[in-house]
Amino acid sequence: MNYYASWEVVSYCDLACWHCYSTYEDRPGFSYKPTLGQIQQGLRNMRSAGFGFMNIEGGEPTLRPDVCEIIRACSQAGFETIISTHGLSLRREHLFERLLEAGLDALSLSLDGASPEVDNAVRRRHSGASSHHFEKVSEFMQWFDREKPPVRLKLNVVVMRSNLQDLYDNLGHLLRQWSSHLQVKLVQVHPEGRGRVNYEDLAVTPLEVQALATRVREQALDKDVRIRLHDPHVPYPFVIVAANGEAIVPCGERQETIVAGGRALNVLDEEFAAHFMEWLATNTWFAEGNRRINTYTA
Ligand code: SF4
Repeated sequence: MNYYASWEVVSYCDLACWHCYSTYEDRPGFSYKPTLGQIQQGLRNMRSAGFGFMNIEGGEPTLRPDVCEIIRACSQAGFETIISTHGLSLRREHLFERLLEAGLDALSLSLDGASPEVDNAVRRRHSGASSHHFEKVSEFMQWFDREKPPVRLKLNVVVMRSNLQDLYDNLGHLLRQWSSHLQVKLVQVHPEGRGRVNYEDLAVTPLEVQALATRVREQALDKDVRIRLHDPHVPYPFVIVAANGEAIVPCGERQETIVAGGRALNVLDEEFAAHFMEWLATNTWFAEGNRRINTYTA
């Protein structure tokens, strides 16, 4: 079995998006950055436990100077390797080419609006200033279309009140401008982290996300459009590895630490594989659900 996991390798981000799921600021001990050696150890332990897909995320993972070494470590450990990024740094000093050279298999790129006004208002700097995110992503996509690098590409779009109309009117048209094959995931905004603080203003319903998906599919026939809805009661079958190595399963508005062998499971623990398998034996929903999410890029 190749289970899917996502490791938050850095807690810091240079943006302050309204909906950010990060809860680091609220959780003492979680503003932690694992060393490359710890990551390598954790990766070995996770391979032994049957994990085969690794999404490297943050915070913003490209802020780590050793991000290429992390990707290389994942690849050398035998993982299919994905990075989730806001994308602002991908064209800086040929970072994306270096990530590819290190063994990257898939890129998960954020875009939360189909126009500069809407996307940049969501993906703002801590000061409130524009990050020019939309322009940077557009520039990257044009480069991607030209160069056709050997990597799978997914756009992650968080659907919220402030961007719903813009996405409905324009997202499909925008996607049609990009010739590359890509998957688009429309994610219902989730009441977590900063997203929880702003949830009343941001919330959209599952029906609104489904209607948007239908519209985008009509407008951009060649794109693979999927949705992820927020279910407040059902655990989502993949493991988030917190920056300190703790293994967590997202469950609606909560993140539940996996407890096995009488303690919180941590991928840095030498006995991680044995304890994870012990936990799996009594949580069969995980393997079944994880198999489904493995069939595409996260
Ligand atoms: S959503 Fe992503 S880019 Fe935005 S603040 Fe959070 S980690 Fe940074």
